[in-house]
Amino acid sequence: MKRRHFIGAAVASAAALGAPMLRAQGRPRVVVVGGGAGGATVARYLAKDSAGALDVVLVEPNVVYSSCFFSNLTLADLRSPESLEHGYDRLGAFGITLVHDRATGVDRARREVTLGAGGVLAYDKLVLAPGIDFVPGSVTGWSEADDEIFPHAYRGGAQVALLRAQLGAMRPGGTFALVAPPNPYRCPPGPYERVSMVACLLSRINPTAKVLVLDPKPSFSKQALFEDGWARHYPGVVEWIGPDAGGAAVEVRPGVGEIVVAGAVLRVDVANIIPAQKAGAIADAAGLTEGGWVPVEPLALATKADPAVHVLGDAAAQGDMPKSGFSANSQAKVVANAIRAELTGSRAFPPRYANTCWSAIAPGDGVKVGATYSAGEGKIAAGAGFISQAGEAAELRAATYAESFAWYDAISEDIFG
Ligand SMILES: Cc1cc2nc3c(=O)[nH]c(=O)nc-3n(C[C@H](O)[C@H](O)[C@H](O)COP(=O)(O)OP(=O)(O)OC[C@H]3O[C@@H](n4cnc5c(N)ncnc54)[C@H](O)[C@@H]3O)c2cc1C
Repeated sequence: MKRRHFIGAAVASAAALGAPMLRAQGRPRVVVVGGGAGGATVARYLAKDSAGALDVVLVEPNVVYSSCFFSNLTLADLRSPESLEHGYDRLGAFGITLVHDRATGVDRARREVTLGAGGVLAYDKLVLAPGIDFVPGSVTGWSEADDEIFPHAYRGGAQVALLRAQLGAMRPGGTFALVAPPNPYRCPPGPYERVSMVACLLSRINPTAKVLVLDPKPSFSKQALFEDGWARHYPGVVEWIGPDAGGAAVEVRPGVGEIVVAGAVLRVDVANIIPAQKAGAIADAAGLTEGGWVPVEPLALATKADPAVHVLGDAAAQGDMPKSGFSANSQAKVVANAIRAELTGSRAFPPRYANTCWSAIAPGDGVKVGATYSAGEGKIAAGAGFISQAGEAAELRAATYAESFAWYDAISEDIFG
């Protein structure tokens, strides 16, 4: 099969880095789309462990990655937004070719990825780690065009900064409403950690303000721990409205600052709309999605539709692992090992997966849930797990909180070098 190779401005800029460009040089090429928690990790491990035997190309439009993990803490001023920003410079040192462009299509028959700037990348193996997109129309009255009024703040960076600014400017005694997403979605405890951090901020700068959670789910991750924490730290501030009380069928009106719940019109001062989610659009463009997500096998996250394409992180329908940065990073190392073994003949290790999700409830009060996972029958299956308990000693909670900060530093280094 005759293949075209790099064409276009993005490729020219990559060539300027002095990186190897062509499969014609004899090395198998792995193209990784998405430089987030999953994609940057897989690119780094592939390049680092293959020591030059693989041509690794990472396609990512942004030059700075603003992590969602820990973004809730910026809402309570417990972390600075700058401390969550990561560049890609160090990945270049591993011999990865960085292409700052967006992948717009995948021709799986020709094994080619097309780029927004017009280039084409041939691949021997393709890894897609594009994260999430939102399901249009999933919250009545809201679309992404409204995200400057009612932000989603579910991708890091500017949206989170906007939400923090809106909270800071909220009228005294105002109402903040969070519309939570249906399962499955990125970071199961994320909306509820956000509620905790917003309540933390408001109890300091706007103590008569109220926090309303509108939820389509009858229960949520670490519910007992969050509810216990809200009662202890922010008594009377947080009200959770589940599906029985209208949380599943809200209508939002960004233009007039209203949310309709079970027929009642509520005036809201700041609203955070977290819609239903699906795999990042490139997964759909590649013809790999079913029900919005990409079915993958559990040994190496190869897609069930095409063994030359692996999908990991939030976009994958892999089984029992929650959609988290920890999971994406863990999956990426398994995928890197399997691809390297297949393309270079190196040793393949049995897959082992792990996840821990920490959540901050208040400064110095952290909780966690986690588990190990293995390749089961047709899916990644949960093994032994653990979870924090209500009523734990303050010292243990403080240690868990500190542990989460150490985790952030460690995983950032593991992802970005
Ligand atoms: C508020 C919040 C709190 C969170 N807290 C935690 C936490 O404490 N711990 C934890 O483990 N996880 C947490 N998460 C979840 C975590 O952020 C995600 O699960 C994780 O980022 C998923 O990694 P990913 O690689 O699949 O996607 P991402 O990290 O989102 O990376 C996807 C990348 O792909 C790029 N991309 C998309 N489409 C294309 C394309 N067509 N071409 C090229 N590039 C493309 C994007 O620009 C992006 O850089 C949190 C999430 C939120 C929203």
